[in-house]
Amino acid sequence: MIVRSTRGASEATLSEAIGLGLAPDGGLFMPPVIPPRGTPWPETLVETAEALLAPLVQDDPLGPHLRACVHEAFSFEAPTRWLDGRTGLLELFHGPTAAFKDFGARFLAAVMRRMPSSIPVRTVLVATSGDTGAAVASAFHAQPGFRVVILYPDGRVSPRQAHQLGAFGENVRAFRVAGTFDDCQRLVKGALADASLVRAHGLVSANSISLGRLLPQMAYYALAASACVRTGRDMPGFVVPTGNLGNAFACLLARERGAPIRRVMLATNANRALVALAATGRFEPARTVATLANAMDVGAASNAERLLDRFPQMRHALDADWVDDEAIREAIQATDAEHGLAICPHTACGMEVLRRLRAQGDGDTWIVAATAHAAKFDSVVEPLLGRAVPVPPALAALLAQTSHAEPLAADGVALAAALR
Ligand SMILES: *Cc1c(COP(=O)(O)O)cnc(C)c1O
Repeated sequence: MIVRSTRGASEATLSEAIGLGLAPDGGLFMPPVIPPRGTPWPETLVETAEALLAPLVQDDPLGPHLRACVHEAFSFEAPTRWLDGRTGLLELFHGPTAAFKDFGARFLAAVMRRMPSSIPVRTVLVATSGDTGAAVASAFHAQPGFRVVILYPDGRVSPRQAHQLGAFGENVRAFRVAGTFDDCQRLVKGALADASLVRAHGLVSANSISLGRLLPQMAYYALAASACVRTGRDMPGFVVPTGNLGNAFACLLARERGAPIRRVMLATNANRALVALAATGRFEPARTVATLANAMDVGAASNAERLLDRFPQMRHALDADWVDDEAIREAIQATDAEHGLAICPHTACGMEVLRRLRAQGDGDTWIVAATAHAAKFDSVVEPLLGRAVPVPPALAALLAQTSHAEPLAADGVALAAALR
């Protein structure tokens, strides 16, 4: 199948688009509209992923490898934990780096490993607001033919996120950039648009603009929704904690493909440009402000262009609300008090948005995407709860490694030098 760019001038097959990242015309590659799938839906994550992705790789060199890629990426579960009869938490943090980004990063790595390359060592260049870098590093760690260069905003990720980013070693280098996430993202975009740098280092993108990360994320929404309906509950809506809009866009795509998803509600932190976008259909990027939900500290969501392209009638597609730091703290405490459950600050944005819906009398079935494990944000969560949050084994193993990140100025010249 052919994917085209939001700007209209570039076309590619899916595997070409995954290799390119950004479309040559400067736009973002869009998956084609595929008619909704009929029921029944498969009952496992790997089968759901395969069912959703197979039509996209017909006649693509990726086609014969899809099953293997899906098995590599979805090697852990995404269970829904029901808090009451109509409120679920979709636990997306059971992967090696304890955030939902493991699914997309591992699928992307599985695909890239199988793509022929004329360059002996490709450089995966990635900007991260905290979790992407670790997921991508983990997915490509020790893979022959790849090195990973991570840029993260110095002082704006949690101590454990920073430790994790610098803990891989071998083919992974972490740079702490004197700037914000948007600066990191700008540096990466600049490098990927520089033909001589791309050639010299075999630069490839792994940011959430990559369809290789975006598309597999449809699977856990489709599975959670179909399982919800199959077990006799009402059709669920999803509340999705959102920053760059990758995860929520995947949820909208899953609904477009026929997954039984009633409604999609974005939950942002104080970076609320997407709330205005959902209300007005106009996107005005804003300066990034630092919040407790730092992986969502994004002022200029890179997937906004995709949302506008696909769903110009914004208000029919989704709703959005935003949450300040004080309400994040309260949601973390309330969720622990009511359910004995530690949640991360991003998940807390989702829980708070849902609490407001309930306060207005909303009695529908909702599933909140739990995007990271609370233990990754212990410095925020533990003081609020007054207890330690147990660390999942994979995260504990990374935290036991030594960690090193190099400083980097937020300019393209410094990055070009660092790549050498
Ligand atoms: C990246 C991230 C988000 C935001 O996801 P987007 O796809 O960028 O909208 C939310 N929560 C956590 C924990 C994240 O790591």
